[in-house]
Order: sequence, then C-alpha cells, then structure tokens
Amino acid sequence: MKIQKNVKLATKTTLHIGGYTKILYLPENEEELIHIAAELYEKEGKVYLLSGGSNLLINDQREFESVISMKEACTELTDLGNGRFYIGASNRIQKVISFVNERGYGGFEELIGLPAMFGGIICMNAGIGGESAPLFTIAEFVKKVKVFNLEKKDIEVIVANDCGFSHRTSMFQRGKYIILGAEIACQVINDKESDRKKRDRLTFCKANFEYGKGCFGSCFSKCNGKLLRLISILYPKNIEGVHFGKNTCNWLVNGGNGTFEEAYKIIKTSEKVHKLLHQDIMCEVVIWK
Ligand SMILES: Cc1cc2nc3c(=O)[nH]c(=O)nc-3n(C[C@H](O)[C@H](O)[C@H](O)COP(=O)(O)OP(=O)(O)OC[C@H]3O[C@@H](n4cnc5c(N)ncnc54)[C@H](O)[C@@H]3O)c2cc1C
Repeated sequence: MKIQKNVKLATKTTLHIGGYTKILYLPENEEELIHIAAELYEKEGKVYLLSGGSNLLINDQREFESVISMKEACTELTDLGNGRFYIGASNRIQKVISFVNERGYGGFEELIGLPAMFGGIICMNAGIGGESAPLFTIAEFVKKVKVFNLEKKDIEVIVANDCGFSHRTSMFQRGKYIILGAEIACQVINDKESDRKKRDRLTFCKANFEYGKGCFGSCFSKCNGKLLRLISILYPKNIEGVHFGKNTCNWLVNGGNGTFEEAYKIIKTSEKVHKLLHQDIMCEVVIWK
C-alpha cells in the first residue's frame, strides 16, 4: 500500500480548502483497504474516507491523524450481461459512463460533469435536479451495494431497498460502511443518444455554473431558494474568498483565498436564517470539522 506523509488535503478537494493529514493511505486493492480501514476504526473509532473530494468541506486549521484515499482501491468494472454491471467504488463516473455506453447501455449520462468517484456518488445518492423536480438519482440504477461493515468487520451485500436512499442521502453517510462497489442495472441506449446527453449536459454546466478557483456543487440539498437568494445578496461578498455563486446561489465558490471558516460561516448563517423563519434547510456537503 502506498503511504504519503504530511499531505495537504486542500489539494484533494474540489473546493481547494483543507488542512493536513499526517498520513494519507492509498490502498491498492480491496484487501488493503479493508485491512487499514478496520485498523483505523479500531484505533480512532472513525475513518476519514476520501473519494473525489467534490462534496467535502475540510477544516484548514486542523491536522488529521490519517485519511484513506479511495483512488486505487476498488477499480473493478465487470459486464454481467443484459445491462447489469459491477462497478468498483474507485472508478471515476466519467469512466463508468464510457464503460456502460460502449456496451450499449446507460441512463445516467448527465452525471458526466461530476468530479466524483462511484463510491462517493452512491454515498451521496448523486443525481440531477432538485428534490421537488428530480430527473433521476443513482439509486434508481443501483441493485445492490457491496460494503465493508466497520463495526462488524465484515463484507456485506446490501440490496438497494435497504440502503436508505433519499434525496442526496443514504445510510452510508453514517460512517459505519465503506462502499466497495455496486451492481447496477442500466437502460438500453444508442451511441447517438448517449453522446447527445453528455454533450448537452456539459454545455449546460459550462453556461450555468461558476467554478471559480474551487467549488463543491450544491451546498444545500434542501432550502428555500428565494430565501437563499436573498441571503446571498445581503451576505458580505469577498470575491477572493468563499462566496455565494452569482448564477446559482446554492453553489459556494472559492475565489482563490477562501478559508474553512468563511465557508462554514456562510453555511451556519444560511441555516440560522432558515430556522428563524421556520424554513427547511439541509446541508448536503459533508463537513470534516
Ligand atoms: C462541479 C461540481 C458539480 C457537481 N454537480 C452535482 C450534481 O449535479 N449532482 C449531485 O448530486 N452532486 C453534484 N456535485 C457534488 C458531488 O460531486 C457529489 O456529491 C458526489 O457524489 C461526491 O462524490 P466524491 O467521490 O467526490 O465523494 P467525496 O466528496 O470524496 O466524499 C463525499 C462523502 O462520501 C463519503 N464517501 C466517499 N466514498 C465513499 C465510499 N466508497 N464508501 C463510503 N463513503 C464514501 C466520504 O467519506 C464523504 O463523507 C457536484 C460537485 C462539483 C464540484
């Protein structure tokens, strides 16, 4: 297993914010992943697991003892026939889309713009569209998920109905499981249609999203859109730091010199205002405080 010391986590997240980890473990297969995860869970009672880092806000004032990177651990991609596939958690979503498209299947091409790995996609139940008008979520394609249960120290296969999938959530966010991979069932799709879907989505992202010098997509999975817009207008804007996106105020953008404190304050202020006005709000981003 590869081990890196004193790694700056800001380089591992798409928001480009985060402190150091004393050790970054890079297991090179499932066995190494399970071994180190069980050891760390036993020692520290928690495992910090990093996939694409596209939904993570990491404290930049903290030094973490250890973090596991999923980058190389679970890379299997298997065609099981009839539109069914086994996808290892470490595969980038772009690779997964290409793999199933090349075999005449697909259905989730719109996820092409996510800088994420398949395990992160399942954990966050990533999808397109808001809670009130969802186009789809990955849960619709998942049949079963192979996990390592950190408490029982055992590999389990969990059927989709038992995964606790809801809008941008799953039971895997509770930190008791490591997703190793999943079996998915895809729809039949031809090359022309899958290419069109990918092209259209990338054009849409380019036209509508503000990436700045770092971002993590939507910050809240649930909020009052009009209220958030108002908060974003009234909130003091630091263009070089973390600020609300101009087009999509639910995106927090790092202008280049952003800090954890700035992002955290924006999240907490938005939550406070929503709660004061009895409006629902739910932070989607995972915070390593
Ligand atoms: C530009 C941009 C666009 C985005 N667009 C969308 C969008 O359209 N729709 C959408 O839903 N999201 C979107 N996101 C958010 C993000 O891409 C998703 O939430 C994605 O699912 C996160 O995957 P990741 O691999 O980056 O996970 P990470 O950010 O690395 O991790 C997120 C959480 O999942 C946990 N985790 C990761 N892998 C595993 C695993 N194998 N087992 C157990 N737990 C795990 C981590 O510990 C962490 O708690 C966007 C983000 C960006 C930056």
